[in-house]
Amino acid sequence: MSRVYNFSAGPSVLPESVLNKAAAEMLDYEGCGQSVMEMSHRSKVFQGIIDSAESLLREVMNIPDNYKVMFMQGGGFTQFACVPLNLGNKNKKADYVLTGQWATKAYKEAARYIDAKAIASSKDKTFSYIPKLDPDTFTKDADYFYICMNNTIYGTVYHELPQTGDVPLVADISSCIMSQPIDVSKFGLLFAGAQKNVAPAGVTIVIVREDLLGNAMDFTPTMLDYKTHADKGSLFNTPPCWQIYITKLVLEWIKNDIGGLEKMKERNEKKANMLYDFLDNSNLFKGTVAKEDRSLMNVPFITGNEEMDAKFVKEAAENGLVNVKGHRTVGGMRASIYNAMPVEGVEALVKFMADFEARNA
Ligand SMILES: *Cc1c(COP(=O)(O)O)cnc(C)c1O
Repeated sequence: MSRVYNFSAGPSVLPESVLNKAAAEMLDYEGCGQSVMEMSHRSKVFQGIIDSAESLLREVMNIPDNYKVMFMQGGGFTQFACVPLNLGNKNKKADYVLTGQWATKAYKEAARYIDAKAIASSKDKTFSYIPKLDPDTFTKDADYFYICMNNTIYGTVYHELPQTGDVPLVADISSCIMSQPIDVSKFGLLFAGAQKNVAPAGVTIVIVREDLLGNAMDFTPTMLDYKTHADKGSLFNTPPCWQIYITKLVLEWIKNDIGGLEKMKERNEKKANMLYDFLDNSNLFKGTVAKEDRSLMNVPFITGNEEMDAKFVKEAAENGLVNVKGHRTVGGMRASIYNAMPVEGVEALVKFMADFEARNA
């Protein structure tokens, strides 16, 4: 067997030990004689799995008791509608910061239901930075304030949160969940599709402050009303059982093998610094993001020459470094170095880049 280093932005690499454990338990989960793929979601065994997934998530992310955790379906995109439908029903107003495609899509979806306001944008420079925010410009009676915390396509992240006062802060953390500690109490709601840092595509984690539940718009589909899932412990209907099981395994990996989110952050910084240091000293490659806004998870870079970029992507793949092509709307390269990317993977990438540079500069 030969595995590649997979720098895909999502779905993306999972910890090898998790894949091995899932493989070992594939036909017989803990002596129950069935695969998790086959068992009833109403069974005791599955209840044990979803309960441990939730309690591990609460422990690892240090989630306060007045927050509900839900395992939903429909990906980040469904949350773009859920957020205004559930949280935007008081004054029907919300502020959005446009830091890339995902934030913009969320904003456009919200604008179908409420008065969504784009308070700031970094579109003028291809979303290569996080705009400086002035709280005086925020809508005082907004129902919530929305950000996309880590911008997967452009490689930026908020290192400081907007000061929204009493207005609940909502964040899409799809591509940075569990990459480092986060103070959940600063947010009204957090959500993340699993396929970047948590599990295979198909489950979406939603963490919401309890007092924000129960005020969905009348026409909200039952499945998009947070209360439906919060009241039933994410078992209103059949949940994505397998994805919840892998979530549990990944959380066990973070807790037991890595040692928690502080340690995860150290590991992620080590990886990202290796790559950024190389880019800052390279004569061929350069990073595209403002230094103070650089992501730990997604690292876009270019040579400035499209043919050279294509040559690099092709040769990297031939050397077992796959999916380093940039997003189709941006071009160049992007290395996504999520939690599960081993340090050795980034070392191999940097070594190959140095090598490529020596041959092509
Ligand atoms: C990948 C991604 C999404 C899209 O999620 P889907 O599950 O495909 O709907 C949304 N937001 C961010 C930040 C992402 O990285």
